[in-house]
Amino acid sequence: MLIVYSLILILAFSAFGILIVNNYKDIRMRNVEVRLFQTANIVADTYKANMEDIIYTRFMVKSYGQQAGSRILILDKNKNVLVDNYNALINKTLDNREIRNSLKGNSSSGIYTINNEEVLHISVPITRNDGLEIQIIGAVLISTSMDSLNLDIQTLKDSMLKIAIAALTISLAVVIIFSNRITKPLRELTYGVEKLSTGDLGFHIDRKRDDEIGRLIQSFNDMSHKLNTIEQNRKTFINSISHELRTPLTSIKALIDSLLIGDNSIDTYREYLGDVYNETERMERLVGYLTTSIRLEDMILDIKACELNSILDEAVKLMAPYAKKMEVDIKFKSTEDIVIMCDRDRIKEVFINLIDNSIKYRDEQKDNNYVIVALKNCKDHIAVTVRDNGLGISRSELSNIFQGGFRILDKGIIKGENIKGYGIGLAIVKNVLDKHNWTISVDSLPKQGSVFTIIIPT
Ligand code: ADP
Repeated sequence: MLIVYSLILILAFSAFGILIVNNYKDIRMRNVEVRLFQTANIVADTYKANMEDIIYTRFMVKSYGQQAGSRILILDKNKNVLVDNYNALINKTLDNREIRNSLKGNSSSGIYTINNEEVLHISVPITRNDGLEIQIIGAVLISTSMDSLNLDIQTLKDSMLKIAIAALTISLAVVIIFSNRITKPLRELTYGVEKLSTGDLGFHIDRKRDDEIGRLIQSFNDMSHKLNTIEQNRKTFINSISHELRTPLTSIKALIDSLLIGDNSIDTYREYLGDVYNETERMERLVGYLTTSIRLEDMILDIKACELNSILDEAVKLMAPYAKKMEVDIKFKSTEDIVIMCDRDRIKEVFINLIDNSIKYRDEQKDNNYVIVALKNCKDHIAVTVRDNGLGISRSELSNIFQGGFRILDKGIIKGENIKGYGIGLAIVKNVLDKHNWTISVDSLPKQGSVFTIIIPT
């Protein structure tokens, strides 16, 4: 990447440098040409005015030549040199493109390389107007060395090269610093992703900036944190489930062991087998919960028009024997028939779950435990409430109970509480209701009871 940046910068600097040097050379050349054409015209005028006094003309030409730092020649129309400020070519015949052009009446210029030296030739015609026509009587040829101009340009090139090298070094340093600023967090992110992929969930990258990359790092950290939480939950869940499965398995093994030792009466067998049956039932329920929660992930609802009253009535009747056994009074306040669109079996499961919890979490210190299931048809929704006066839930735990967490189960294990649960019931309830676009909320106070409210939009 750095090589590409460097190449781009070098190319840009070179193009810029060549442009500047060429422009500078053009401007300087044009200036020299203009100046020499002016001098040539003055020389031509001086010659015309003093044709009879060639000595004076030579003297003037010498002084113009000195001023211009150039060689000045005056030629007649036969290309014979009349005046040469260097004297060497007087009376010699000269011929070149510029002289020929001037004798045809045109001013012209050209650059030639003579003895490895660049020389600029310019020439102008000397004309005389005798009243009838304009006659060309000769030409002025000025030749000047381009050495000093070329030296200036070389000096400019050297300076430009020095500036370019300095600018290139500074730009590369800036590019390196900035590209490092961009690539460093990306390298950190890549490292973080590699860490996650090798199982280091929860890996955290320090966020040092507030821009897009900073936000990307923040999202990475959030994702990493969530993945870690999910992984922790999964481990806790597996631990809890293993614990829950091991307990009945241990008691079944102990019961069978004691049956295998010695002679037991048929009543003992019956009693022990009854216990084995209960433990097996417990395991069956747990496995049932697990399967349901897994199946819910890709559940497809069978939505039909159903009577809400009859669903609630069935759920209450189904739970009535359990409520009686637990000495909990269960009531259902039904209203007129309300038809709703839902998956009947799933919604019945939801109500059974809520009623089951209300019975399960009854307050054994009270002698009038109750569960009231009520239905209210409001303007734009139907509200179903399941109210109990059981143990209630503390405010700090309220927000967690719908999460597929197994917290309460853990609590049960740690504190050795009697009430058995797998912490999945309400998560399943919420999942089913979400899929119906219904909502559930809870209001609860410890030792006073809980109210679960389901809102069905109409
Ligand atoms: P569990 O299998 O533990 O009952 P749930 O998901 O059904 O799992 O409920 C989660 C937790 O919410 C329970 O462990 C319990 O502490 C609390 N809870 C649910 N319903 C009630 C209720 N009616 N009264 C008091 N606590 C409740």
